[in-house]
Parts: sequence; C-alpha cells; structure tokens
Amino acid sequence: MDRIYLDHAGTTPVTPSVLQAMLPYFSECYGNASSIHSTGRDARKAVENARRQVQHALGSASAQEIYFTSGGTESDNWAIKGGALASSARGRHIVTSAIEHHAVLHTCQWLEKQGWEVTYLPVDAEGFVSPGDLQKAMRKDTALVSIMMANNEIGTIEPIAELAEIAHADGALFHTDAVQAVGAIPVDVQSLGVDMLSLSAHKFGGPKGMGALYIKKGTVMERLLHGGEQERHLRAGTENLPGIVGLGEALREATEEMEEKALRVSGLRDRLQAGILEKVDRVLVNGPQTHRLPGHLNLSFLGIQGEALLLRMDLAGIAASAGSACTAGSLDPSHVLMAIGRDRDTAHASLRMTVGRENTQEEIDEVLRILPEIVEDLRRMRL
Ligand SMILES: *Cc1c(COP(=O)(O)O)cnc(C)c1O
Repeated sequence: MDRIYLDHAGTTPVTPSVLQAMLPYFSECYGNASSIHSTGRDARKAVENARRQVQHALGSASAQEIYFTSGGTESDNWAIKGGALASSARGRHIVTSAIEHHAVLHTCQWLEKQGWEVTYLPVDAEGFVSPGDLQKAMRKDTALVSIMMANNEIGTIEPIAELAEIAHADGALFHTDAVQAVGAIPVDVQSLGVDMLSLSAHKFGGPKGMGALYIKKGTVMERLLHGGEQERHLRAGTENLPGIVGLGEALREATEEMEEKALRVSGLRDRLQAGILEKVDRVLVNGPQTHRLPGHLNLSFLGIQGEALLLRMDLAGIAASAGSACTAGSLDPSHVLMAIGRDRDTAHASLRMTVGRENTQEEIDEVLRILPEIVEDLRRMRL
C-alpha cells in the first residue's frame, strides 16, 4: 500500500487541475504583470482573473478587496502590524485569543515589545472563544481584534460574526485568520462582517508560498513591503504569477467541491474517530464534536508520547502530526491543548490526524488496523 497522508492541516498536495493551470505560467506565459506590452498584459489578465476567483469564493463585494501575499504568515503579519499601525491613533491595545497560530501570536508578542498591550482571551474546554469575554476585554483604546476562524490543531470553528460585531460596536478593526477554514467550510466575508481575512493556498490544494489578505474597502491599512506599486500600492514586489494562478484555480475547485468533499471527509474522519475509540482505551478527543472542521481529529493517547506514536506511524507508512506542524520538534506542549485545560502529559500524548480530499475508506481502515497495535506496543514499552 502507498503511504497514507493524514496531515492535511499541515499542507495539502497540489491538485492535478491546479498543476495544469499553473504550468503555462512557468514557460510560455512569463510576462511581468506590470509591463505595458502584450506579454505583460497577458500576465495581468491572469492575475486579475485569479483575483475574481478569490472574490467569488469569499463573497467579497469587489475584486479590489483581494491582495495577494506570500502565504498565511505574511497575511497575518500584514493584517495585524499594518492594521495596528494604521489605527494606532485610536489606541495601542489589541485583543486576540490564546489558541491562535504562531503567525498571529508571535506578531502580537513583537508588538508588545514595541509598547502595545495585548489581551489574550482564554477559550473553553473545546476551544471556543466566548463573546462575553471579548465584550469584557474591549477598551476605548482597542485598535484591533484578531480571532481565528478555525483552529489548526483541534478544528474548533469560532463564532466570528458575533465576535466581529462586538469589536465593531467599540470601533475596533476585526481580523480573522481563516487559513484552515477557507476551502474547507463556507467563508463569506460579508456575512462574517470582518475587515480583514487571511488565507493560504497550500492548505486547500494550491501551491506553497502563496496567500491572500482580504481587506474590506475603506479600511485604512499601512503597507509592510515598500517598493513598486503592485497590489494597488499596498504590497510591493513583482507578482508571483504561477502562484497566483494556482491559488485562484485551487479556490475555485475547492469551492465547487466543498459540500461533497466536506461530507465525504467528515464521514471518513468520523469512521476513524469511532474506530479508534472502540479499539483503544484511555483516549481523549481534543476539540469539539460539533462546529469542528470536517477533516480534523486530535486525540490524546494517555500514557504515551505523541512524538513516539508519530514516528512509529511514519515507519508504518502513515503521516500524521503531533500538535501543530510548526511546533513539531519542540519540547513545549501545544499551547492550544494547554489552553483547553489539558495537563502537560495529556498534551504530550496527542496526535493530530487531518483527513483530506484524496483519502479513501481503505486507507482509514488500514490506519484502524495499524494504530491500535502501535499504541498497545508503546504502552507496553512505556514510551
Ligand atoms: C498554516 C497556517 C498558517 C500559516 O500559513 P502559511 O501559508 O503556511 O504561512 C497560519 N494560520 C493557520 C491557522 C494555519 O493553519
């Protein structure tokens, strides 16, 4: 059997149609979208076509609200630093949550060093941010609120529309890191009511190093990259043409397939969860059972180390993740699992499996055959 890939929250393979769409832009269509000649104009057309694809997928009012970036990390950095700098006249206070991706948390920590104050909202045992807590954290000098749409480790889907309304009632900007949500569940910027939203192509079948930031029309934003006049003067640098085309096609395809894919993927995930809970004792599910991303499953196998389990699974041909991909290799327990109230041992005992579009029932059943044996083995060896 081929390797079984269950780490779609870490990254996804580029889909065949995305690869096909990108290929010409590495060869015959090599123009610079800023050039006046026809080679450049062809590139410009491709960029603007992709921008419309993103606009449609997000329910944005205008394609002019979509800015291409180098990925989720840049989008988060730009939204928070750029949004904070542009609205600092209002005050120097930011509200975020304790379970954000490090692209948000470390950006906020950097701003703290620059003299900003940051409130990190707690979450409940399933990872939900409480609107009441946000209400209490809001101050006259709160410039920006940034809460993720869906958590990358445990899949919790946050009540963004409600949270954005609370931030706006006090005049603050609202940003959401929707990197895990876009392509997996419906994301409509207008019904969410957000001012800024981050997404990343490689999380939904697109290329790595490519993302976008939605910035609602009228939002005052500071630029981070200075240079040319690309992206309506707000993000300098020659456009990543194949990347942009790939992002547009990946989001078009993911949106078209979404409903069917979510059903299939969550069906496989539920089969995996039920099978493990039936065959293995002393397992805890981390995260909620409803309002959870369709592909996410995060489990703690009490008495063993997630890392050891991960390595044994890898040897058996199964790719999973312990905590988040970004903290893999570090000895600190996951900040997300600590925030939902797990103790250090339980956090260290966790394994994340994230199902994606190309997984099959045969693969899930193979995991259900292999994983319980490995767990039993490790428990016997006390690893
Ligand atoms: C992957 C991820 C990011 C970072 O995106 P990159 O494109 O890999 O830089 C940010 N936030 C969340 C929630 C993610 O899952």
